[in-house]
Amino acid sequence: MLNISNLHQIMVDYRRHFHQYPEVSYDEVNTRKYIIKELENLGLKPFTFSGKDVAVEIAGQQPGKTVIIRADMDALPVFEETGLPFASKIDGVMHACGHDGHMAILLGLIHYFKEHSDKIVGKIRFLFQHAEEDVPAGAIEVVNSGGLKDADAIFGFHLWEPLELGKIGVRSGQQWQGVINLLSLFLVMEGMGQCQMKLWTRPLLLLSL
Ligand SMILES: [Zn+2]
Repeated sequence: MLNISNLHQIMVDYRRHFHQYPEVSYDEVNTRKYIIKELENLGLKPFTFSGKDVAVEIAGQQPGKTVIIRADMDALPVFEETGLPFASKIDGVMHACGHDGHMAILLGLIHYFKEHSDKIVGKIRFLFQHAEEDVPAGAIEVVNSGGLKDADAIFGFHLWEPLELGKIGVRSGQQWQGVINLLSLFLVMEGMGQCQMKLWTRPLLLLSL
């Protein structure tokens, strides 16, 4: 049975894989393929709204609301100079904003809820959105192709280095400009890099759905 400690290792492994193979906005081809394969290996049936995102749903035994949990997939045109053993293998591209962590978190949640669907009342739609860095292109494409259809709520989150490790910041409603009716979660994980500065200079980047 899946427990929290092996969920942690699963997410670390995912994050390091994604970190080594970053792809910029609209070029998330191998990232998407990898996610689809992982979801299929779990016995799930991934699908897409826009052709560029990846979605999957897990329903509970009882009827209820549909909630979306969304992560982004794209990296930045940045050279990595960290020297980490799992540093980017793609010259000039790096997951410098933490979206590798976001995908790892979402996949970890999917592992968890696949085994614990009895804890779901209603349905969870897990959404991997493409092209977040190119605001608002990826989000608009997902919305316009029905990504929010039948959803009662959507949760977005972003790793956030200023928070102490292990703490979660929560905010309901607008978070920076142009983002409305969201509950925003800020997480912090070890090994975060340049995300903080970029977010301050481009405040729309948190979430554009
Ligand atoms: Zn970001």
